[in-house]
Amino acid sequence: MRKPIIAGNWKMNKTHGEAVSFIDEIKGNIPSSEEEVETVVCAPALFLKEMKDKAAGSDVKIGAQTMHFEESGAFTGEISPAALKDLGITHSIIGHSERREMFNETDESVNQKLHAAFQYGITPIMCCGESLEQRENNQTEQIVRDQVEKGFAGISAEKAPDVVVAYEPIWAIGTGKSSTAEDANETCGTVRKVLAELYDENTAEAVRIQYGGSVKPENIDGYMEKEHIDGALVGGASLKPDAFLQLVEAGRNE
Ligand code: PGA
Repeated sequence: MRKPIIAGNWKMNKTHGEAVSFIDEIKGNIPSSEEEVETVVCAPALFLKEMKDKAAGSDVKIGAQTMHFEESGAFTGEISPAALKDLGITHSIIGHSERREMFNETDESVNQKLHAAFQYGITPIMCCGESLEQRENNQTEQIVRDQVEKGFAGISAEKAPDVVVAYEPIWAIGTGKSSTAEDANETCGTVRKVLAELYDENTAEAVRIQYGGSVKPENIDGYMEKEHIDGALVGGASLKPDAFLQLVEAGRNE
């Protein structure tokens, strides 16, 4: 059985005070990650240390939204995976479509970051997904296949199940236009099929695949009940403690 994983992606939102009080508000109500659901909040790097300290003793895990693949060096403004590890940061989103579109991330750098994440014991949440134009041109399967094949290049069958894949159709992100649960499940099924081709059935069955794109408390159940969807990567609706707790609850009930 794959353990559901609900991850918030705050993007460039909240101040330090807001970030810390969010953790205070939710941490007493998060179910045990040992049995039920894994809960992650991916926040701006500035707040990670204090959020991590606040979350101590709870099952809220704190993640980054990106990281570099090099340990250190002349990379102005970047975040070192070694520094994340040192802070006890457990997860990092890798290759979010906003980073691919606006910050020049490529399938190759995503792959380098996946390798770096494993080197530093960080669970990568690797994003993939097609644009509206690609969807309209019936390229969804090819795009996602390509992103998964290139992203996982050189990752061993032992490590592959520790990658979380987030399928996020770009046209559904922050637009309020979510994919239907059927369509999302179909593409998450494609991700699993590609993983089975790259590795084997057992490995593919062990990988957790999230859907992301305008997920909210009102629609999450439809996704979570689908065969290939094991959680959600949530932007806007993860910013409010109440809504986030409802999303986690929905993951737990799966
Ligand atoms: P959204 O963002 O939930 O606001 O659509 C999802 C994401 O970008 O991860």
